[in-house]
Amino acid sequence: MNKGKQTTTYDECISYYKVLDSMYDEVKMFECGPTDIGRPLNIVVVSSDKDFDPNRIHRKNKEIILINNGIHPGEPDGIDASMELVRDLMQKPDLHKLLDNIVLVIIPIYNIDGALNRNSTSRVNQKGPESFGFRGNAENLDLNRDFIKCDSRNARSFEEIFQKWKPGLLIDNHVSDGADYQYTLTYFATQHNILQSDMKNVLDQTILPGLNKNLKDKGIINCPYVNEYKSTPDSGIVGFYDSPRYCTGYASLFNCIGFTVETHMLKPFDDRVRVTYQFMVSFLEVMNTSFQKVKNARENAYYKGADGKDIPLTWKLDTTRFDTIDFKGYEGKYKPSEVSGFNRLYYDEKSPFDKEIKYYNYYKKDKKTEAPYYYIIPQAWAKVIDLLKLNGIKLKRLSQDMNIPVTSYYIKDFETVKKPYEGHYLHYNTSISETVQKVHYNKGDYVVAIMKPPVNQDMRGNSQLFPLKMYALETLEPEAPDSYFNWNFFDGILMQKEWYSDYVFEDIAADLLKKDKSLRDSLNAAIIKDSKLANDGHAQLDWVYHHSIYYEKSHNLYPVGKVMEYIALPLED
Ligand SMILES: [Zn+2]
Repeated sequence: MNKGKQTTTYDECISYYKVLDSMYDEVKMFECGPTDIGRPLNIVVVSSDKDFDPNRIHRKNKEIILINNGIHPGEPDGIDASMELVRDLMQKPDLHKLLDNIVLVIIPIYNIDGALNRNSTSRVNQKGPESFGFRGNAENLDLNRDFIKCDSRNARSFEEIFQKWKPGLLIDNHVSDGADYQYTLTYFATQHNILQSDMKNVLDQTILPGLNKNLKDKGIINCPYVNEYKSTPDSGIVGFYDSPRYCTGYASLFNCIGFTVETHMLKPFDDRVRVTYQFMVSFLEVMNTSFQKVKNARENAYYKGADGKDIPLTWKLDTTRFDTIDFKGYEGKYKPSEVSGFNRLYYDEKSPFDKEIKYYNYYKKDKKTEAPYYYIIPQAWAKVIDLLKLNGIKLKRLSQDMNIPVTSYYIKDFETVKKPYEGHYLHYNTSISETVQKVHYNKGDYVVAIMKPPVNQDMRGNSQLFPLKMYALETLEPEAPDSYFNWNFFDGILMQKEWYSDYVFEDIAADLLKKDKSLRDSLNAAIIKDSKLANDGHAQLDWVYHHSIYYEKSHNLYPVGKVMEYIALPLED
């Protein structure tokens, strides 16, 4: 046994928790759905009053904290640290009292697939452990990009766990690469600007100051996750925008504040496990005293919500705003590369520095939308319906065929990555145009109520305050970065299905232009503006087709309709 240099295997980890489960009534391990590798996803629940029913726990006014480990199994610090933490919570009275107001739900290893694919080489720059799991899961997916598209069974099982336990706080444990500096521990919270204001306030005014003081008192130096503004940290560091594809971004849609712990790859494994452990203890200590403020903020956020107009869909870093933080770095220097002869960067550990740097951690709203009363989703889009249900969205169905006046989107423009990204040709920079029209919907099509009854998302009277509106908006509004549209769920609408034969349509088009003076004028205007069109007979014919009744209305028409004013819809029970 090479002490401090090895991480647990998957089987050892599960056996270990089985022992704790049998030794202590306050620890219970559950199997919660499948993963792509075929093993069940486990959770370990630590509950000091031996209550393992999430509804009852919420009603007792306890806060549930979810700890996720091994989403990247090559970064196993949290896996080992959590094992030690559960044992110590049971064996050390001063730690046990941290469970007075808190129930812990721990995912021992999330990417079981990757953890079983063990090797010693795939983290080339990391100082230990001796062997570890692989980043990709059995489908070679990065599970920390899978929380909206849910390609993996792991993600589906995670979301079932999340929706069942409804945690108010989440810790996702990682190891960072990137620049070198003196800190073993870095971390970041969910981007504060995207949080509802009560949530933002409790994060900025209570949790972060409490956590930083607690860590400082213990002598654990740390700084925000180092995401360089330019090439080295001296240029400043940038707060990470965790969109909903990420674990913490997904959590934030439900007013759950996420923390991503990133220990540094060049620090020894046992030190990294130690600070991950201490971070979690500090987190519990802060929450044990502040949990009521977090609960109150969640309650306020739930009732106030992000109502009505100007709901942000995209965010931009505000480079004009920053905080100043103390940073303990190593001097970044350059010397000739022994590989290429060109200058290469290195960090000189013999030249530590302590200076103030800029921390750019303010994002401003970019594209916005107005929340509808209802979204109407044709039943044909089954995968969308399925994922909305998985995430607790209550759906009702139309009880008859009908035409409904809706705001419809046409996809105006978008870009697509050139190579597959996490199994998808992801779209980005999507823009839409809006039109109000009557659309035919069929009996059984789905209605999501966002603003008002009759499909009631309100959970008042139930202590689990879990808002659902943001999840629906982030996935159903095509312009949001992690919308179902951008993840290719609606790509079918992007292809025209019917065409025309030039030689036949020539005569029809000529007739249309003769009968419709405004169409003729519009074509002439377009020709004046566009020299390419002016010199291309086929393009002009095509222009007429696209501006005629023969061109299919469904091309680029986003099928999800928005009902902006309250109307009583006939719904199935
Ligand atoms: Zn990671």
